[in-house]
Amino acid sequence: MNAKIADSLKSKGITSAAVLDALGKIPRERFVEQPFRTSDMCWGESPLPIGHNQTISSVYTVALMTQALDLNKEHKVLEIGTGSGYQAAVLSQLCSSVFTIERIRDLSLKARSVIESLNIHTVTFIIGDGSIGFGEYSPYDRILITACSPDIPSSLFNQLGEGGIMVAPVERNGSQNICVIEKKNGAMLSKEIAPANFVKLIGKNGYEAQTPQRCGF
Ligand code: SAM
Repeated sequence: MNAKIADSLKSKGITSAAVLDALGKIPRERFVEQPFRTSDMCWGESPLPIGHNQTISSVYTVALMTQALDLNKEHKVLEIGTGSGYQAAVLSQLCSSVFTIERIRDLSLKARSVIESLNIHTVTFIIGDGSIGFGEYSPYDRILITACSPDIPSSLFNQLGEGGIMVAPVERNGSQNICVIEKKNGAMLSKEIAPANFVKLIGKNGYEAQTPQRCGF
């Protein structure tokens, strides 16, 4: 990540030095397809296709959601929607372990291969329906959903530890917002931090697979 991109992120409110540092350490070009590896495309403001009608989020969206998680090196994190693996790689720089779930097998395998080639060994890849979470390793200190959910999935909230934070794009009244959800004394405290435009979370506690895509990309 060059200084111009870092400055642009800072001007948009990405003030966490740790997040900017983590973004600087992960070679984003490795997670995008060949035609998008130019600096302008790769680090630009648009999400990019990664195959299977799915996308890698823009670096700003990744930075914003990562910052909202308020991570520390002790944290165990669950990510729903591995996609390219870029977000998981960024998270891995800021916490102790990442469990990432992807419903599309090919994407999970490809992400795993790129992340392992970067000598990152704290990410566990799970293939399946992340809308039900992954109880085996719960509770998680942080949960990040990188696909739009019709509601805050209670199954995932239940797998969040006390004092934990979940960040998720949620659809309300036809538009998406990134929500930051805290668990305080077992209760859910939620606030919206930015509009969003994610692909849909498909699964038992998400949208039905046959629902036509209404989200933009
Ligand atoms: N975090 C990804 C990255 O860094 O490239 C981008 C995620 S992409 C916007 C959303 C991903 O969520 C897609 O790869 C999609 O297949 C996946 N997805 C959708 N529903 C899912 C579900 N129920 N469980 C797991 N993954 C799901």
